[in-house]
Amino acid sequence: MSMESLRRFSALAWHWILPQTCAHCREDLPSDGKAPLCDRCQKSLCLSEPPFCLRCAEPIAGGKALCRSCSGRPFACRLVRAAFLYRGPVPGLVHAFKYRGRRAAARAAGRWMSCLLPRFPELSGHDTLVPVPLHPRRLRERGYNQAGLLAEELARIAGRPMLDLLQRTKPTRPQWDLDRQFRAKNLAGAFLAAPQTRGKSVLLIDDVCTSGASLEECGRALHQAGASRVAAYVFARQTL
Ligand SMILES: [Zn+2]
Ligand SMILES: [Zn+2]
Repeated sequence: MSMESLRRFSALAWHWILPQTCAHCREDLPSDGKAPLCDRCQKSLCLSEPPFCLRCAEPIAGGKALCRSCSGRPFACRLVRAAFLYRGPVPGLVHAFKYRGRRAAARAAGRWMSCLLPRFPELSGHDTLVPVPLHPRRLRERGYNQAGLLAEELARIAGRPMLDLLQRTKPTRPQWDLDRQFRAKNLAGAFLAAPQTRGKSVLLIDDVCTSGASLEECGRALHQAGASRVAAYVFARQTL
């Protein structure tokens, strides 16, 4: 038996023992499929599309260019763009690759992000992909950084370099656990960028953007280490 057929056989056997289910509706998935969602759920994914705030991609109505929290101040992370909105099947999918160990789901999400990247020409020129890091303790618990898996897929498909330029030096409480005003405080000084950052134009990669506070804190650390500019591309935008 060749390595390839052995690999296929073991994937099938694994599927037989433990059928993969749709990360949202839990319907069984075809054994040959790589998608983490069934067809119906995949079709109900909600793209992040204008009208949205030109800085942070928060959906806004009324013809305004910037949302209230982005108006009138500069940002270290100058732009945030998202592939999808955090609704419909997205929360279940994110939960699957964040808390249920489904690495393949993160890789599929990274492939979708790469298909949708050309919709945002404003992100071109940000050539170095940098995943938002986990604190080493959380990385040990989870065994992988989901943002790293997304960035790896994007880097592989887009042919851009991916570098782990950031480290999280301070364990932080989950951002969803905190009020908006405490989020920035919780993250202050939480990241450190490597000296190789100097002169790089960085595209930060993360799974979900909620308030944008972690992306902003990463942007600050990257600029401190000499990044020429910083933008972010996330899998899903949570709306506040
Ligand atoms: Zn489904
Ligand atoms: Zn905004």
